[in-house]
Amino acid sequence: MDEIQKLFYCALAFLAFQLVVAFACWRLARKKGRDTVGWFLAGLFFSVGALLWLWLLPGVEAAGQTKACSGCGKIVAWRAEICPNCGSPLVTPEIVATITLRRPLRSCFLVAFLIFVLLLVVLGLIGYFAVPDQPGKPIP
Ligand SMILES: [Zn+2]
Repeated sequence: MDEIQKLFYCALAFLAFQLVVAFACWRLARKKGRDTVGWFLAGLFFSVGALLWLWLLPGVEAAGQTKACSGCGKIVAWRAEICPNCGSPLVTPEIVATITLRRPLRSCFLVAFLIFVLLLVVLGLIGYFAVPDQPGKPIP
């Protein structure tokens, strides 16, 4: 296996790891009533750091995602009928259409992600046109 191939497999393994962490962030964000797409992207960029940060953040109430238990105040899944913490019976509130969810993290990371992809494309094009196809062959 040559160096380029080794590098390629390392990059592939790194990307796979980042995707696993990003997916874990997404699941945890959903459980905590936080922005799933925003935290997925945060996991993709900041890896385990984002996951730890999210893990330390408290859960929040988000319509259709999570609600607070009327008995103990703990954040539980939206469709939970019994609180897993204190056992109180829970009701699922109706989603009010006028509630607008604010997702600042999502838009922030979407912009960062687009800039990142654009940068990769530009660097790829520079690399493609600047480096000769056969490094051993002298340029005419
Ligand atoms: Zn409870």
